[in-house]
Amino acid sequence: MLPILVLLAAVGVQAQTADLVITGARIYTANPARRTASAIAIQDGRILAVGQDVSPHTGPNTRRIDARGAAVIPGLIDSHVHMEGLGDLLEVLDLRQVRSVAAVAELVRQEAARRPAGEWIRGRAWDQTNWGGQFPTARDLAAAAPLHPVYLTRVDGHAAWVNPKALDLAGVTAATQDPPGGKIIRDAAGAPTGVLIDRAMGLVGRRLPGASQEVTRKRLAAAARECARLGLTSVHDAGVGAQGLAAYRDLAARNELPVRVYVMIGGPGALWRDFLARGPEVGERITVRSIKLMADGALGSRGAALLEPYSDDPGNTGLLMLTREQIEQVGREAFQRGFQVNTHAIGDRANRVVLEGYGAVLGGRNDRRWRIEHSQVIAPADFELFARYSVIAAMQATHATSDMRWAEARLGQERVKGAYAWRRFLSLGVPVPNGSDFPVEEPNPLLGFYAAITRQDRAGNPKDGWQPDQRMTREEALRSWTIAGAHAAFEEDKKGTLEPGKLADLVMLSADIMTIPPAQILKTRVKMTILGGEIVYSDAP
Ligand SMILES: [Zn+2]
Repeated sequence: MLPILVLLAAVGVQAQTADLVITGARIYTANPARRTASAIAIQDGRILAVGQDVSPHTGPNTRRIDARGAAVIPGLIDSHVHMEGLGDLLEVLDLRQVRSVAAVAELVRQEAARRPAGEWIRGRAWDQTNWGGQFPTARDLAAAAPLHPVYLTRVDGHAAWVNPKALDLAGVTAATQDPPGGKIIRDAAGAPTGVLIDRAMGLVGRRLPGASQEVTRKRLAAAARECARLGLTSVHDAGVGAQGLAAYRDLAARNELPVRVYVMIGGPGALWRDFLARGPEVGERITVRSIKLMADGALGSRGAALLEPYSDDPGNTGLLMLTREQIEQVGREAFQRGFQVNTHAIGDRANRVVLEGYGAVLGGRNDRRWRIEHSQVIAPADFELFARYSVIAAMQATHATSDMRWAEARLGQERVKGAYAWRRFLSLGVPVPNGSDFPVEEPNPLLGFYAAITRQDRAGNPKDGWQPDQRMTREEALRSWTIAGAHAAFEEDKKGTLEPGKLADLVMLSADIMTIPPAQILKTRVKMTILGGEIVYSDAP
């Protein structure tokens, strides 16, 4: 054995020459043992060395990049995204910045003029809080598109605004009953007004033409390119079906997937049964080892399940979509086969039901890393349950700064203190991986970094931040966008910090986000994204 070991050691010494070195950088490693450095050496897609001087690793064939003082951070990890939704965004009306019902109708009218009669017009991200809080109606869109069915989803994806043509096509009338977990908004006479909440969206939504395999692949490819441009080297896709997974595999095989994808299987359907039979799949580009469940709706559309009624809608406690028993049942299957369970829960009632369901399976502290996606409104007594069952609070910083305008109206003064409370989780030792939930929020992770440390909107309001005691430090925010996301996917040994042996996933920025005034973070751009040692995005011409 000895000669072989000696030989291996000799090869090892020779192999210490890097393919790529970056020098002159302000490197933030996210590794507390060595917080900063100025140079990094990369070989075979992995980090060889990080420090002040990597010249011993530089050979004649080493590519050198002088960062000229630019900041370098670990590749960012968005722990909750919808990739196909982001790709789809490029194909549908974006209503995020539209400030009136009339302006939405005008965009729909223009779109109708471009399309043959009968073709669906889709749009997304309308928000009634942009125009005083009144839900819009089908009638508002009647004249704009009399011959085209129109389906516009709310900014949180938990409500649809449709036109009369779409209601007709779907046969939704005063006689149609609310489906379980859904609600048809009605006028005084009981007729549908044109807004459908949560499960009721499907009454019209299921008439939409489905995406072909080809369309799905195109959308995912477009989203992946956007990730590379924005410095995201890993994403956790919160709800993938068989077609999406096949498209990911296709793209990876063609080398058209410049981002690593941690797949959450979208609910306990056929794909889940299939994976239960074969077990988790762990790879460097695509990993499948979790299932995504949905316990309730969202706060904006009052679909989040609350323990007490909405402060601005007495009698309404939202919609619970899963029982504790259902969560427990899926949980047991997942536990046995080594899968992680990641459940969407926004309201305090939904969070409690999920924690109880998880707790029944997990029993106590563990390393299963089950997650509650959003963990948005938590009853005071329930924070501790996250620690008790080692549950991860997967949160999205920009949800707080988008929702702060109206969150207190929905929840009232007391309950809102347990909302978007990431510091309370951190102080209990509960991991908080960050994310954007794109396309619900914008995919740029630096907006989330900014929101995490300021709890302010982009204009810098409110002055000291909303619930400022919940702000993260920059170091915490960096870790929430890197190593916490890696940990939440069982990948902390492979990524999330810049350390020798880990994947060479890193980002070079136009400014040093760890020191500049917060407002300047909003203007910071990605100069270069490196994935496994390969430059997958560069702003250089
Ligand atoms: Zn989501």
